[in-house]
Amino acid sequence: MPGCDRIRALAGGARDPLSVAGHATWRDRWVSWGSVAALGAGVAVGQWLHGNGGSADGWAAAGDLILIRPLMLVVMPLVLVSVIAGVTSIGSPSRLGLLGGASLIFYLATMILACTLGASLVTILDPGAGVAPDVARDLLADGTTALSSNPSLAPRIQSGEAEGLSGAWLNILRQVVPGNPFAEMANGRPLGIIGFALLVGAALAVACDRVPAARIARDTINGIYEALLVAVRWIITLLPIGAFCLVVATVTRTGLTEFSGPIAKYMGVVALGLLIHAFILLPLVARLGGVAHPWAFMHRCRAALGTAFVTSSSSATLPVTLETSVEAGASRRATNFVCPLGATVNMDGTALYEAVAVVFLFQFMGIELGMQELVVVVITATLAAIGAAGIPSAGLVTMVLVIGAVNTSLADPAKALPLGAIGLILGVDRILDMLRTSVNVWGDLVGARLLTPLAPDEPPGDANQATTGAAAA
Ligand code: ASP
Repeated sequence: MPGCDRIRALAGGARDPLSVAGHATWRDRWVSWGSVAALGAGVAVGQWLHGNGGSADGWAAAGDLILIRPLMLVVMPLVLVSVIAGVTSIGSPSRLGLLGGASLIFYLATMILACTLGASLVTILDPGAGVAPDVARDLLADGTTALSSNPSLAPRIQSGEAEGLSGAWLNILRQVVPGNPFAEMANGRPLGIIGFALLVGAALAVACDRVPAARIARDTINGIYEALLVAVRWIITLLPIGAFCLVVATVTRTGLTEFSGPIAKYMGVVALGLLIHAFILLPLVARLGGVAHPWAFMHRCRAALGTAFVTSSSSATLPVTLETSVEAGASRRATNFVCPLGATVNMDGTALYEAVAVVFLFQFMGIELGMQELVVVVITATLAAIGAAGIPSAGLVTMVLVIGAVNTSLADPAKALPLGAIGLILGVDRILDMLRTSVNVWGDLVGARLLTPLAPDEPPGDANQATTGAAAA
């Protein structure tokens, strides 16, 4: 029995609970239907608590303990070993370069597509139009107060503003080439781990051709990787309970019925854009790239999309993304390369959301942006989304970079948008974050499936041979 199958069998069955092919296990049904039920029940309980002055804190803490922390516990080791295993198995530098180049082109193209869609929709539908100037000024003052009194966001937004777009990019480059991989891991910065893992993986592939001992290291890393995936499957079993707690917390905080006027329209435009991108544009890109049934693939990816929805974090979802992607039909090799990098770099949902939000805020203050500023929005929202970490509200923070760039490009400095305007959309950010994070993760999954032909998995026979060969060596 090959090593991986043995580990799967040890974990309690050769079939994966998320697998949709063949007969569904009780775990499969529990995760799928339990999550749907948790969502409905969570909304109902949350709305009741909201109406009766209940507190969200206990629910948020429970969701954090049950789902988010266990996922975060495995995410950094998983990024490290999955990228090393992926790069080592791809082997040849030219194939690696091809996959890397194609991934970056895919990330950029789909993000620019998402931004352009967002900027077009918000310009056509004009959700911020018609607000009386004095009402806008009052609401802006409220928003500024809400933002400056938010202890977690205010300092991040201020440092983002001070850093600017070029500073943010320098910061990203510094993370990709880290000075200390252990510090990157301890600080939860996946880009640094990916940079380190790319180097080690490429070096290990070369060493495997020369030194038999290196093959032991490669097989050990593959073994740790498989073991971590078993742990991920255990954690996914908790998804319905964790989802229930997190949804109750979100709805208790925000309520469902309080969105009206321009903010409700703004939410509608973001949601419409995300739906068009997720259900039409990305499947179209996949179809044009040779994926036969993109919606069936989407259905098979539902565990990852659901986890992204409830956690609002691409990074926390990554363990589930890696597992689901392969179960849904992408190759392990493409998945191990495209998804970890995509979780921090490829953010279609965030890019679209930032474009809509910035244009909306200008509209709200009575400023219609021209074509030149819209182009600035599309470019900087793409760059800002690349710079956003895969954590909740990261897009809200990097939005300051887009606002700063548009302000600089305005002919009349008096029209510049104050950063406090972000406070206007603060209250509804979590709900939109849930949606955009699902789209971010969906973009990574489409990328892995689309690029699978560039990095197909070896047929099982070959893999066994390689393992046996390595063991014999
Ligand atoms: N929460 C998003 C993610 O993790 C990032 C964002 O805030 O837009 O993908």
